[in-house]
Amino acid sequence: MFENKNDQQTPLSDLGEFALIDHLTKHFKVGQASTVSSIGDDAAVLEFKDKQIVVSTDLLIEGIHFDLSYMPLEHLGYKAVVVNLSDVCAMNAVASQITVSIAVSNRFPLEALEALYSGIHKAAKYYNVDVVGGDTTSSTRGMIISVTAIGSASKERIVRRSGAKPNDLLVVTGDLGGAYLGLQVLEREKEVFKVNPNNQPDLEPYTYLVERQLKPEARTDIISLLESLEVIPTSMIDISDGLSSEVLHLCKSSKVGCDLYEDKIPLDPQMMTTCEEFNVDSTTIAINGGEDYELLFTIDQSDFDKIKGNPNLTVIGFIKEQSDGAHLVTRSETRVPIEAKGWKSFNA
Ligand code: ADP
Ligand code: MG
Repeated sequence: MFENKNDQQTPLSDLGEFALIDHLTKHFKVGQASTVSSIGDDAAVLEFKDKQIVVSTDLLIEGIHFDLSYMPLEHLGYKAVVVNLSDVCAMNAVASQITVSIAVSNRFPLEALEALYSGIHKAAKYYNVDVVGGDTTSSTRGMIISVTAIGSASKERIVRRSGAKPNDLLVVTGDLGGAYLGLQVLEREKEVFKVNPNNQPDLEPYTYLVERQLKPEARTDIISLLESLEVIPTSMIDISDGLSSEVLHLCKSSKVGCDLYEDKIPLDPQMMTTCEEFNVDSTTIAINGGEDYELLFTIDQSDFDKIKGNPNLTVIGFIKEQSDGAHLVTRSETRVPIEAKGWKSFNA
């Protein structure tokens, strides 16, 4: 993942707001044709020609959305960008710019913000988006980060939550439940550390899960894949709160029901062995655990041949009439109504 850097401490008051912004953003380069002008004016100027624009924003608050005792700042910066890019993907659009706004208390030295911005920089570079602005202010306690992502797609390619229709196939990318389990592993290690700070956590058996939690990725690769397969989903959403809650969002927006097959849900082997170790049911984790940032979408049955056999895509069910309701069909073939237990309430 990322390496730890030095442990120098420079108070933010040494720089002042403008020097700070300049210091943090001086390495950001403009790469997108649609960025006409970037940081340094009262507003950025963008030009998209004949495309439709998608805009999505997220607000992350210390103590609510992240815990700095196990989330290194560089990871936090990376993740703050990724969660927004994931929303742009969920519209079947391609992100091209972000803005980043931060509020920090004087508890944070310059080096902390450098680490945060190095994660933001890494993500912006990896996903090929320009950082075109933001805002910087102080907070009385803790850190707040807000990222806004701007993307585009031709009008025909934009996919909403509302287009699923009966008999469509329900498809998910990647595998599920890993990020939630990664968080459980990190929380357990934090407790062990509290009891004895000399205990070094052994995260070796959980590398995939911890990476899923600390360094999630936005599935921009799937947006390119769908384009090359000539598939436009009928509806789509990203999985931030957990499969069950996102399935219900799609069903509600599209006014449909669905059957979701327990035995089709894609699980990683490390996730399954860790569920055994933690004595939790892997299906429960996979459908309620959040933050996997995979995509959930529906396609017309006539598109099945185009996606068939692709290792990134798994058909997990199909769409039914709204009056049929939304059900999980278990391995023992019982039909259980799907309930929205977002990962936050699940956590409580
Ligand atoms: P204003 O007074 O208009 O809010 P600022 O002095 O806050 O302007 O910002 C100056 C420039 O720096 C603007 O282009 C703004 O978008 C950008 N900027 C401010 N804070 C950040 C940040 N945290 N990250 C990236 N760009 C920033
Ligand atoms: Mg400002």
